[in-house]
Amino acid sequence: MPTHYQPSVQKRQLAPGAGVDIVGDLHGCMDELLVLLDQAGYQIRQSPDGARYRIYHSERRLLFLVGDITDRGPHNLDALRFVRDLVASGAGSCVVGNHDDKLIRAILGRPVMHGNGLGGTLEELEAASPEERVELLKMLQGLPTQILLQRPDDREVIIVHGAAPEHHQLLPQKSSYERAIYAYPGGEKKDGGIRRRDWAADYQGERVVVHGHEPQPRRLVKNRVYNLDTGCVFGGRMTLFQLDKDSFLEQKAFHTYHQKKGFSGTS
Ligand code: MN
Repeated sequence: MPTHYQPSVQKRQLAPGAGVDIVGDLHGCMDELLVLLDQAGYQIRQSPDGARYRIYHSERRLLFLVGDITDRGPHNLDALRFVRDLVASGAGSCVVGNHDDKLIRAILGRPVMHGNGLGGTLEELEAASPEERVELLKMLQGLPTQILLQRPDDREVIIVHGAAPEHHQLLPQKSSYERAIYAYPGGEKKDGGIRRRDWAADYQGERVVVHGHEPQPRRLVKNRVYNLDTGCVFGGRMTLFQLDKDSFLEQKAFHTYHQKKGFSGTS
């Protein structure tokens, strides 16, 4: 039986001074994403039937997402369409997250639990034609596990959903994929949340690492490791990191789409 997903690294050589934007976990929060992209100078057009996005930036900035395209948020089908059209345009890409991995398995009919928002995403997908569902599946299966940005005049950058400490960069081990999408699951905290190993605190690598997966009330930057998941779907905010300017844009969530125990986006 063919594997549902083949781990891969996508390498991109950047021109000197290239503009690069990286956005945290999406989870179907298209309204906040579009506001952020407008602030960052993108012109996004959706076709009247909603099926296609046109993504344009006059300075040809590149746009990357850290994965978890769908689940729990309000516009999961549109989020998938947006990423499909971003990838097709060549102007950006997205790494695979644990929710994307699970969605691939669900579309393929593998046994997966429908909790954590997956059921809602699958319901939304019923509005897509069979041809479009195949297209979206192909897009998901083609997402890289890690993206390596090679900057001529600066440090290399790894984009990953979960974790990419030095010994997992460029996927040298079998377990690198699991680290990439789940990071380091640990025990349960008193408040019911999950305690994870703080790999960024020990990071001494040369490369900059940009990731999501672990929602925090505020973005975290530690030892050249950037966590952009600021829990938009949980009522926090969505964060866009302008790599070339080392600056951030943020959009507060319009709603708390899903209550997460122990997460307060307002703190
Ligand atoms: Mn996530």
